Amino acid sequence: MKIIMLGAPGAGKGTQAKLIADKYGIPHISTGDIFRANIKNGTELGMKAKSFMDKGELVPDGLTVSMLLDRVGQPDCKDGYVLDGFPRTIPQAEELDRALSERDERIDFAVDVDVPDENIVNRMSGRRACLKCGATYHLEHIPPKNEGLCDSCGSGLVLRDDDKAETVLKRLQVYHDQTQPLIEFYTRKGILKTVDGTQDMKDVFAAITGILG
Ligand code: ADP
Ligand code: AMP
Repeated sequence: MKIIMLGAPGAGKGTQAKLIADKYGIPHISTGDIFRANIKNGTELGMKAKSFMDKGELVPDGLTVSMLLDRVGQPDCKDGYVLDGFPRTIPQAEELDRALSERDERIDFAVDVDVPDENIVNRMSGRRACLKCGATYHLEHIPPKNEGLCDSCGSGLVLRDDDKAETVLKRLQVYHDQTQPLIEFYTRKGILKTVDGTQDMKDVFAAITGILG
């Protein structure tokens, strides 16, 4: 099963994508996580990506698409995957479609996790991330068992640079301008499914599994 997660930054795409990946035994592929790993390892791609991410802008399609297509071509992706944070522009979606149709493959579901802008700033300012294993928490809604430490790997949790309030507003604007048109794109393809992302994490997941089967 090949699934795309859509939604504003902070809507809960990553949280749900991890649950989906565990339940269905498919890889969770987050382009944001791949960029952050590159930044941490000091690669050239990471340095280029960082300059855009810190400003709340999208990393150019030319850097993002080839990286993602390479990842979904890996052997562990042969039975499907859940994409989190990709595509984020219409050209990215078109390139993904083209690459998949060359292999006679297609995306099965595009799941839109719908959360109004009013809730987003709280979601992102309360988010704490583990840069080692990619786990994500929320100070109020989904706190770690031990304050400041990752439940999965014990590393220290951080407020991502791009989750600071001034960057969040820019990211929301970028989402509305460049990413939201994908909702129409996947509606036309007949694979868009919308879930109410303001519910408790478990209820959002129940709605998603009701759709995926
Ligand atoms: P995205 O991947 O869409 O940017 P995340 O999955 O990282 O979003 O979620 C953003 C923040 O909101 C995180 O701090 C996460 O723990 C929290 N969160 C996710 N889902 C919910 C939910 N249903 N209710 C409350 N907080 C949530
Ligand atoms: P995320 O972890 O999904 O919130 O992504 C963090 C940041 O990484 C975004 O604000 C972008 O700067 C960059 N990024 C992640 N995925 C993409 C993508 N598909 N296209 C362009 N930029 C991306």
